[in-house]
Amino acid sequence: MRKTTSVEATKQLAATLAPYVHPGDVIVLEGDLGAGKTHFTQGFAAALGVSAPVTSPTFNILLAYEDGRIPLYHLDLYRLDEAEELDDIGYYELIDGDSDGVACVEWAEKFPESLPCDYLEVVIRRDPTDEGARQIRVHSFGPRSRQLLCVWSNDSKARLQKTA
Ligand code: ADP
Ligand code: MG
Repeated sequence: MRKTTSVEATKQLAATLAPYVHPGDVIVLEGDLGAGKTHFTQGFAAALGVSAPVTSPTFNILLAYEDGRIPLYHLDLYRLDEAEELDDIGYYELIDGDSDGVACVEWAEKFPESLPCDYLEVVIRRDPTDEGARQIRVHSFGPRSRQLLCVWSNDSKARLQKTA
């Protein structure tokens, strides 16, 4: 669990994950509207080397950024009503582990039966006592994401020690 006290701190935390992701990795972002899922993705994208501004894909469902170290597929399933629509947007190809890039998925929990078998889950919660603060919890589901979480958390522990 990490607590961030500003948008920048959330983006910075996301940026520390970017060096460790491989093609095929899936990051599922969970949290209410306005929790900070898109801002997390912005920090992550910038650290991957994406130069275009990363905007919310709520209306487009899928936005792809090809100019970073590996392609980034940013998805927001909020507006999808039926699981069948996931096929139309090529969802399964992006999350089945064989993709050429990394996927960040907002509102994947709307379709729990369509979650990938291996993914990193980032849960962002507002702090009820502090408007600008967020609690960020990360869980791994599957061996690849366990490994990813392990290297990421070692990195962020080392940073905390350095700044202490
Ligand atoms: P989501 O994609 O989860 O709906 P957004 O990332 O679009 O949310 O928006 C998050 C909102 O919360 C933004 O208005 C941002 O300025 C605000 N915010 C305040 N504090 C934080 C923080 N610590 N981390 C991330 N966002 C924050
Ligand atoms: Mg969003």
